[in-house]
Amino acid sequence: MVDRLDTSERARVVGRFAPSPTGRMHAGNIFAALMSWLVVKSYGGHIVLRIEDLDVERSRSSYADQIMRDFEALGLGWDEGPYYQQGRNDVYGDAFERLSALHLTYPCFCTRADLKAASAPHRGEKAVYPGLCRGLTEAEQAQRAKERRPAWRLRVPDVVYGLEDLVQGHYEQNLSTECGDFVVRRSDGLFAYQLASVVDDAEQGVNMIVRGVDLLCSTPQQEYLQDALGLGHCRYAHVPLLVGEKDRRLSKRDKDASLDMMLQSYGSPAGVIGRIAYVAGLRESFEPTTPEELLAEFDVGTLERMFPDNVQVLWR
Ligand code: GLU
Repeated sequence: MVDRLDTSERARVVGRFAPSPTGRMHAGNIFAALMSWLVVKSYGGHIVLRIEDLDVERSRSSYADQIMRDFEALGLGWDEGPYYQQGRNDVYGDAFERLSALHLTYPCFCTRADLKAASAPHRGEKAVYPGLCRGLTEAEQAQRAKERRPAWRLRVPDVVYGLEDLVQGHYEQNLSTECGDFVVRRSDGLFAYQLASVVDDAEQGVNMIVRGVDLLCSTPQQEYLQDALGLGHCRYAHVPLLVGEKDRRLSKRDKDASLDMMLQSYGSPAGVIGRIAYVAGLRESFEPTTPEELLAEFDVGTLERMFPDNVQVLWR
C-alpha cells in the first residue's frame, strides 16, 4: 500500500475534530469528521477534539455538548480533549506579539465598504486584500486610530506556497497575489481563526488535518503562519464538500441532511453513517454501518482516487 507517509511519520499521527459549536451537526460536518477518523485511525493515530468556540457570539456550550454526544453515538470517538478556544486569549496573544515583534503585523482601518470598493472578487474566488493600510506611516496610523479600532493583518511575502494534499494532490498559491495580507486579530479584539487554529494545532500536537476542501485555500496562509512562528507543517487531506445542489454547500435549509432528520429517516446512528458512506461513495450500497466497520475496508493509499469528484458530492 502506498500511503505517502514514512515510518517515522506514521508512528505519531495526530488528527483532530475541530467543530464550531454554532448548531447541530449535519451530513457535511459528519462526513468530514468520519473521514478524519478513518484517515487518522488507518495510520493507528489518535484524535484530539477541539471545540472551536472562538466566535463568542455564535458559539453555545449546549451545542458543544450536543456535538460530543452525537460524535459518541455515531461511533466517532476521540482520544484527547475536549479542548476549548475560549479562555485562551493569552496564548493567542503571545503568538500575536511574536508576529508583531517580527514586524509582520500592521493595523488595518478598512471598513467592509472600503474593501468592497477596492476589489471585486469573482464568484468562488477569495478576496485579495489590496494592501490599502500596508504602507501607512506611524503618524497616519495614530490619526486613523482616533476614529476606528483597527483589525490587525499579517504582511505576506511574494512567495508561492505549495503542498501535496492526500486527496487533492498538488496545490499551490502565491500568498501575495492570491491571498494578500490577512487578518490575524479582528477589530473587536478577537483573534482570527487562522491564528488560533495554527497555535492550537501546534500545541495539541496535531500533524494530520482532514477537513473540507473549502479550507484548502486557507492552508498556505496557515503554513506561512507556522513558518513565521517557528512551528512545523502538517499533512493535509481536504475532502470534498457535500452539496445540496451543484456549487451550493449543505446548510441548515437542507433539512434532510440534518442529524435529527437523518436519525428519523435512517433509524439509528449506524443508519446515518451508512447513508453518508453510501452517498460519498465509500460503500456501493446503503446499509447501516459503523466507522469501525468502514475502517476495516478503508485504504488510505487510495484517497486521491476515492471520490469521483474531489470537490463536491451531491447529497441525496
Ligand atoms: N471549525 C471549523 C469548522 O467547523 C474547522 C476548521 C478547521 O478544520 O481548520 O468548519
